[in-house]
Amino acid sequence: MKKSEFLCRICGAPANHKCRLCGFHFCNQHIDSRGVCILCSEALCRLCSRYYAVSSCPVCGRIVCDQCSIQITPVVRVCKECYNRLGKPREWPPRELIEKSSEYRLKLGRLVMEVLYQRS
Ligand SMILES: [Zn+2]
Ligand SMILES: [Zn+2]
Ligand SMILES: [Zn+2]
Ligand SMILES: [Zn+2]
Repeated sequence: MKKSEFLCRICGAPANHKCRLCGFHFCNQHIDSRGVCILCSEALCRLCSRYYAVSSCPVCGRIVCDQCSIQITPVVRVCKECYNRLGKPREWPPRELIEKSSEYRLKLGRLVMEVLYQRS
């Protein structure tokens, strides 16, 4: 029977750990105590560290998963921490602002801040 031996996907060293998220094998330098490889941990939600992030919060800039963020428009998700801290936006968004440039993302972040802070 063929011996199963895996190499670390990052450094090529013998890998004795398997990432519980992506299923690839890693050496003990490239996986953390939770069993998550460094590649996955880069992509994990910064709030719960359990799920892959689906979006980034325009207020704090952290990447967050579906569970840890609240959709305030079809295109904007704010993380739960910012949402709890700042409250629900009154009205959102000005429709003409829905575009996809990176400049727009920055502008959007500022607008979210304004909308959140202006609530009565
Ligand atoms: Zn490695
Ligand atoms: Zn992984
Ligand atoms: Zn999360
Ligand atoms: Zn946030």
